[in-house]
Amino acid sequence: MADRSLRGIRLGASSLQSEEGVVFHQRTDYTYVCTLCSRETVMTFAADADAPEAWECRTCGAEAVLRVGDAVVEIDHSGDKVARTHWDMLLERRTLPELEELLEERLAFVRGRRGTVEEKVVGERLSA
Ligand SMILES: [Zn+2]
Repeated sequence: MADRSLRGIRLGASSLQSEEGVVFHQRTDYTYVCTLCSRETVMTFAADADAPEAWECRTCGAEAVLRVGDAVVEIDHSGDKVARTHWDMLLERRTLPELEELLEERLAFVRGRRGTVEEKVVGERLSA
């Protein structure tokens, strides 16, 4: 009988500890308005935490902006870093004329090698 007494209890599913004497942290709801679909996303944060100015829209995933009162927060994107592409990085090291020159060199090398490979193949066919 003793081995049956634990039946029906799923570990982790619920706490057996009572909530008596537990003080819940103060929480505040923040509303974010989507810049794309205009739907609202409500997020709950700790009252003493700084809510971010933007959150991902729950409906479409676009940027949703924090609403304060009747208006939404202005978000300054001017400080955002624009991702550098490989091309941008290349241009920091080489000028366009230099790149043209390198391309010509490389093309000449590839053409020269292709020529020798083709000659070799033809040579092998002739000898076979
Ligand atoms: Zn949206």
